[in-house]
Amino acid sequence: MEKWLKAAQEKDSNDVLRSFRDDFYIYEGKYYMDGNSLGLLSKCAETALLNVLDDWKRHGIEGWTAGERPWFYLSETIGRQMAPLTGGDVSEVLATNSTTTNIHQTVRTFYRPTKDRYKILVDDLNFPSDIYACQSVLDDYGYSDGLVKVQSRDGHTLKTEDIIAAMDESVAVILLPAVLYRSGQILDMKTLTEHAHKKGIIIGFDLCHSIGAVPHHLTEWDVDFAVWCTYKHLNGGPGAVGGVYVNKKHHHMDVSLKGWFGNNKDTQFDMVHEFDQAGDISQYQIGTPHVFSLAPLIGSLELFEEAGIERIREKSLELTDFMLEMIDAELKEYHIEVVSPMDRTIRGGHILIGHEKAAGINEALKSKGVIPDFRAPGYVRIAPVALYNSFEDVYHTVRILKDIMDDKLYEKFGNKRGVVA
Ligand SMILES: *Cc1c(COP(=O)(O)O)cnc(C)c1O
Repeated sequence: MEKWLKAAQEKDSNDVLRSFRDDFYIYEGKYYMDGNSLGLLSKCAETALLNVLDDWKRHGIEGWTAGERPWFYLSETIGRQMAPLTGGDVSEVLATNSTTTNIHQTVRTFYRPTKDRYKILVDDLNFPSDIYACQSVLDDYGYSDGLVKVQSRDGHTLKTEDIIAAMDESVAVILLPAVLYRSGQILDMKTLTEHAHKKGIIIGFDLCHSIGAVPHHLTEWDVDFAVWCTYKHLNGGPGAVGGVYVNKKHHHMDVSLKGWFGNNKDTQFDMVHEFDQAGDISQYQIGTPHVFSLAPLIGSLELFEEAGIERIREKSLELTDFMLEMIDAELKEYHIEVVSPMDRTIRGGHILIGHEKAAGINEALKSKGVIPDFRAPGYVRIAPVALYNSFEDVYHTVRILKDIMDDKLYEKFGNKRGVVA
């Protein structure tokens, strides 16, 4: 194991993003590998939140239009800050709602069923909330049987050709993940968008597991819409406000979930009952922005701007490469299945491993200071995050995992998941 430690230390000393770790509150003595579920707090995010509290303290209601970041425009301001991470134009990105609400908003806005074209295409492996939201849109329009799921061949990944084969003239809207939340596979968004458009289908992506870890080029790829959360790789804090991208060419469309913050700002306070739709990205808001759940993003996104998403992606790949290399060399005899793609070009920012004792292994890891997460029925997800994890963290994670396997420490724990996994 000694040689791995040395290799890790050498990689850390050559790491151009190394200094960013100092901006985060790192758990002393812990190896935090769960940044794809809840990113850590940075000092920048903390300061940004305190500044907004201070604006409230000093300005009261005037804070909506006074102070450094007037709350009235905060969703748009933060949207512009996030735009480079999506490859969307600054006029196409907004911080608002939650991921699930944004799915309801976008899918409903784009869903214009006819008797021949009424299906929503999703995938077999997607996150439940995305499926519930799509199904509820179909139910409300009387097309409950319209949900089509692309099937995975291996239970973990999707084939581009299978998705394309499912795009027929009966499909109205497609919603797919950019990075699959379990296996971490990246879908080929560019190719899928091209094919969807050839068939006259609207296509959107859920970037929850890719934003902040993987670069996107949504405008260049001509993606119609995208949604994401900001508490995973973007470190916006628990319950942080989500993000939405809508391609400019659709901004003329009537939004489905209307509320006064989707109104033209110049006439919003006329308080008349005729909705004057903003006509730009801000129209996808519904009600008053959740200011304290937006505020940490102001600081957090500054770190992303400074680090640059391309450099973050490069380090993230080096971290997962190193982890995979160590697992392959040290854990062969324990039949740990590496589910995530070995191919770098389609590997997101986290690794999924499988084992029949995964729940016990997950608990054993936590008892030894490694914080991963468990995904039923038999998987552990591990996310070394470029901005705050070191190669040495990865080394210790795999070293501890090896100890657990050597000593069968997982047997001390029941093979059951917790309420929040
Ligand atoms: C995390 C995640 C969500 C969470 O949605 P919320 O509305 O923020 O609770 C939804 N979809 C996917 C794919 C996710 O990874």
